[in-house]
Amino acid sequence: MLQKPRIQVLKSFTKNHICTDVLRLDEIHPVISGNKWYKMRYYLEDALRLGAREIASFGGAYSNHLVALAMACNNAGLGSIGFVRGEAGPNSSATLEAAREYGMQLIYLSREQYKDKDAIQNQYQAIGRYFVAEGGYGALGVLGAASILDECDATVYSHLVCAVGSGTMAAGLLSRLAPHQQLIGISSQKNNPTLLNAVLNDAGIEKRGQFELQEDFHFGGFAKHPPELLSYMRDLWERESLATDIVYTSKLCYAVEAMINSNRFEAGSRILVIHSGGLQGNLSLNKGLLPF
Ligand SMILES: *Cc1c(COP(=O)(O)O)cnc(C)c1O
Repeated sequence: MLQKPRIQVLKSFTKNHICTDVLRLDEIHPVISGNKWYKMRYYLEDALRLGAREIASFGGAYSNHLVALAMACNNAGLGSIGFVRGEAGPNSSATLEAAREYGMQLIYLSREQYKDKDAIQNQYQAIGRYFVAEGGYGALGVLGAASILDECDATVYSHLVCAVGSGTMAAGLLSRLAPHQQLIGISSQKNNPTLLNAVLNDAGIEKRGQFELQEDFHFGGFAKHPPELLSYMRDLWERESLATDIVYTSKLCYAVEAMINSNRFEAGSRILVIHSGGLQGNLSLNKGLLPF
């Protein structure tokens, strides 16, 4: 069902004898795309081991996590429930429609209600229902994210670079890094003073020297996509046939190029960019804005 991800060489990310490859996690499956699969795989295993009948989780109207969960549950013969932030109607989206098609029952919550996930979980707790935190956050999510590095021989790279939302993926990658390697995380958010420590706490504090969080490439804030970003996405597609999403991976690739051009990487560095998927998020854009 899932395709092994390929490694693509980026021909134009080569200044100073730098080699840049991208691990195409976006291609493992058209729906269960990217890091959300890796972050949920061990929760799914755990739920099945405990004999659960369904999995419940949380997300917004464009949640890559909810749609991936819906399909993964469908494939595993489990039911799924998605608690959605915001009212039904204006907040319905192609992402949620897809989740519903995979059998997910959607329950809409006000922003106020949504903040107290423990209360929701208490209210909706039921026999055979297994709860997963939003985005796959948590210890099994970190462990699953670490398993991304089983998909290729990552030890040949001097630097890994990934997008950072909650930091779960970054923590997983960092926990498995070899001593000669550095991880650079590109935050998709404007201001999150707790993010760096969240990553380091989950990865193991002894990895502190191997991690850098870049917070200058958010393009105005989470999910903001000004015209410069869309034009970069079109340009990258033309140069490298690399499709990216507006929330995470376009900002990731932009940051990698900007850092190469400002000599952030030593000559001869070997960089692995983690393409974490999420392309269906682009469905929120008007048609025709992007060529892919
Ligand atoms: C969710 C997501 C991320 C962020 O992952 P975290 O583990 O929350 O940091 C990055 N890229 C894509 C495409 C995602 O969908």
